[in-house]
Amino acid sequence: MVRGNDVKIIDMHCDTIHKIWQNNAKENPEASVHENLESDELMINLEKMKQGGYSVQNFAMFIEADDTKDCFKRFNDLLSVFREQMDIYKDIISPVTNAFEIYENERIGKLSAFLTVEGGEACQGDIEKLHYLYAQGVRMMTLTWNFPNELGYPNIDAGKMKFKDDSFRCSPYIPDTTHGLTDKGIEFVREMERIGMIIDVSHLSDAGFYDVLKYTKKPFVASHSNAREVCPFVRNLTDDMIRQLGERGGVTGLNYCHDFLFNDTIDEEMRAIAYKYKFADKGLDNIDNEGKSKDYNDRYEQDRRIKDNNVSCDRGKIISERFMDITYNKIAEHARHIVNVGGMGVLGLGSDFDGIPCYSGMPEADRLNYLAYALHKQGFSDGQIEDIFYKNVMRVYKELK
Ligand SMILES: [Zn+2]
Repeated sequence: MVRGNDVKIIDMHCDTIHKIWQNNAKENPEASVHENLESDELMINLEKMKQGGYSVQNFAMFIEADDTKDCFKRFNDLLSVFREQMDIYKDIISPVTNAFEIYENERIGKLSAFLTVEGGEACQGDIEKLHYLYAQGVRMMTLTWNFPNELGYPNIDAGKMKFKDDSFRCSPYIPDTTHGLTDKGIEFVREMERIGMIIDVSHLSDAGFYDVLKYTKKPFVASHSNAREVCPFVRNLTDDMIRQLGERGGVTGLNYCHDFLFNDTIDEEMRAIAYKYKFADKGLDNIDNEGKSKDYNDRYEQDRRIKDNNVSCDRGKIISERFMDITYNKIAEHARHIVNVGGMGVLGLGSDFDGIPCYSGMPEADRLNYLAYALHKQGFSDGQIEDIFYKNVMRVYKELK
């Protein structure tokens, strides 16, 4: 039996505003639809948040560095979409910058929107722009996305991904343990701590993680990263990182993306199901429905082709009971491992909704009770689920002024 979810939720990462911006005909002349926080197409919308028991959603201003030359302008473009949405739905949701404001919204029955940035290139290496972001209400920022920038190096360098080409130089399974923060990056993390902006190490290289540990003192987060021991993708944290993060008082947010959950070399059933649903009836050639011979590069290219061909996923069709079950159980397995290694205080949620492909096998924000059920099966008590869904992240937010 799956019970209703009566635990409050804080979700540390989604790309919903980017998606609205991308699909908003006003912002993007090629877009054909107009989305807002009520759109059913979104994995996170206001209704799903209410159904799921959300208190706080972090909305990331996702700076897609290969898509824009002016990352600061991109931040401002996304910010205006965020502001517009907050204005339209001001009776239902409003922006917050600390725990007190979250409590106040809870008291009057409103949802809270916590403003974050994904990609430190938004600041273009200029500390004044960091102060500008803070003044706009940003209280959390990943230092990098998947490109090196003024502040440091990522674990996956998307600029070095090569497709069907012998000059393959970047693997999702080989971490970067030598290139960490730049001098500018060190200056930034110190300033972020001083002004009260949470440092987010998701996407950062392994070397960068240890630089953050070395040059800072306060709790920081990995807003949307799982356990590398369970799935070897380098977007996930090693056991040592999980331990260090826990000792610092930080949290890592469970990410529901297939690529960061499953080890495709051993999770054969999941791989087969994912490929079946991902590519069935898409009319794309050269697709192996069993997924047996596909390496990461092939899959990455197929993702691009789906995007390029504007093939949309039929979510009603892809989310079979079995697919869901496997996904939730795998998320719970990551949760169990992370808590065993880093302690009960180190875990939160970081869905990556509206940034992850819809073949991930995860229903949306309204179905978090299923995740609670899977966590119960992993031996977590009601109180511990509350820690994971809400209290651990709230503890970090309480450090903000
Ligand atoms: Zn991300």
